[in-house]
Amino acid sequence: MIRFRRRRVPQVRHGGYRPVKQGARHRTVLDAEPVVGVVVSLLCGGFYRVERRRGLAIYDCHVCEEIAAEKAGWL
Ligand SMILES: [Zn+2]
Repeated sequence: MIRFRRRRVPQVRHGGYRPVKQGARHRTVLDAEPVVGVVVSLLCGGFYRVERRRGLAIYDCHVCEEIAAEKAGWL
């Protein structure tokens, strides 16, 4: 009998808000976008001031991705 093992994809509960700073899309612990002007801390240790205009995401910040994966238990 072949047992199919369904790969469980872990859900990231937090971090719905992902600001783009200088082309890099970071992760935060916030679920929603804060008010313009608010400074949010990024998972990679940086800071981002919320702007009215959304930046264009060129790549994902690998530090944020790694920390988010670690928190979700992927690593
Ligand atoms: Zn980052």
